[in-house]
Amino acid sequence: MFEYLSEKLSFSLRNISDQGRITEVNIKDTLREVRMALLEADVALPVIQEFISRVKESALSQKVNKSLTPGQEFIKIIRWELINTMGGQNDTLNLAAPPPVVVLIVGQQGVGKTTSVVKLGKYLGERQRKKILVVSTDVYRPSAINQLETLTKNINIDFFPSEIVQKPLNIVHLALTYAKQHFYDVLLVDTAGRLHTNNFMMNEIINIHIAIKPVETIFVVDAMTGQDAAKVAKSFNSMLPLTGIILTKVDGTSRCGAALSISYITGKPIKFLGVGEKIDALEPFYPDRLANRILG
Ligand code: GDP
Repeated sequence: MFEYLSEKLSFSLRNISDQGRITEVNIKDTLREVRMALLEADVALPVIQEFISRVKESALSQKVNKSLTPGQEFIKIIRWELINTMGGQNDTLNLAAPPPVVVLIVGQQGVGKTTSVVKLGKYLGERQRKKILVVSTDVYRPSAINQLETLTKNINIDFFPSEIVQKPLNIVHLALTYAKQHFYDVLLVDTAGRLHTNNFMMNEIINIHIAIKPVETIFVVDAMTGQDAAKVAKSFNSMLPLTGIILTKVDGTSRCGAALSISYITGKPIKFLGVGEKIDALEPFYPDRLANRILG
C-alpha cells in the first residue's frame, strides 16, 4: 500500500549511496528527487518543504560516522525525519480514565466511521478484554443505525438501540446512563457524517461533545482523499478538540501522502490505520514501522 512512495524514494536515493561524502552539491539532486517523490505521493507542500529542509540541515551537520557510508547515513536521516513527520511514536487510545471511557467517532460521510467503530470495538474487546457498548447517533440516514447493528452481530460487542425519531443528544445520554449501569469499559459513539462547512451539523457534534465529555474524539478520514484529508482534519480540529485520527482505506491507495501530512498539519496523532473492509482490518499506527515500509 505504500509501494508508490517506496519505489520512488529508493529510486531517488540510488545515487547518494555511491558518494564518498555528503555535501550540499551531491545531495541537491537527490533532495530534488525526494521532493518530487513526496509531491507525487500527494504529501502537502508545507510538509514537504519542512521535511526537505530538516533532512538537508541534518545531513550537512552530520559528524563523520565511520561505521556508516554517506549513503547509509543519508537514508538514516530520511528515515528519522519520516518518523518525526508522522508523529514520532505510537499513540494508542487513552483507556486509563474511569469507565465507561467514551470514544466519539467523527468525520465526513462515507469515510469509514461505522466500520471503524465496529473494528475498534472488536479490537478492544479481543485484544484488551474490554466490555464494549456501541451506539449510533446517525438519525439522518435511515439505514445507518441498522448498519451498525448488523455489523455488531456475531462479534462480542453490544449494540445500544436508537431510532431516527430520537434526538442525537438524547441518544447519547441514554447510552451513557446504560453503559454506567451495566459496567461497560468503553462506549463507542458513532455519529452522522458531516461537512466542516455545515454549521447545523458542526453545532450538533460540538453539543454532543460537551454533553458526554469523551476521553477520545477520533477523526476518521479516508486516505484516498490525499492532501484534502489533512485540510478537512485541520478544519474539524479547529471546532472540536480531536485527540487522534483513524486513517482508513489505506489498502486502496498506493499514494500514502495523507499519512505523512495529517498529523503534521493537525498536531494530532494517527492512532490506527484501516487496511480493508473486513472487521479485523485495523492496525495500530507505528510511525517507525511505516517509515521502514516506505524505505523498503
Ligand atoms: P461512514 O459513512 O463514514 O460510516 O462509512 P462506512 O463505515 O459506512 O464505510 C463506507 C465504505 O467504506 C464501506 O463500503 C466500507 O466497507 C468501506 N471501508 C471502510 N473502511 C475501509 C478500509 O479501511 N478499507 C477499505 N477498502 N474500505 C473501507
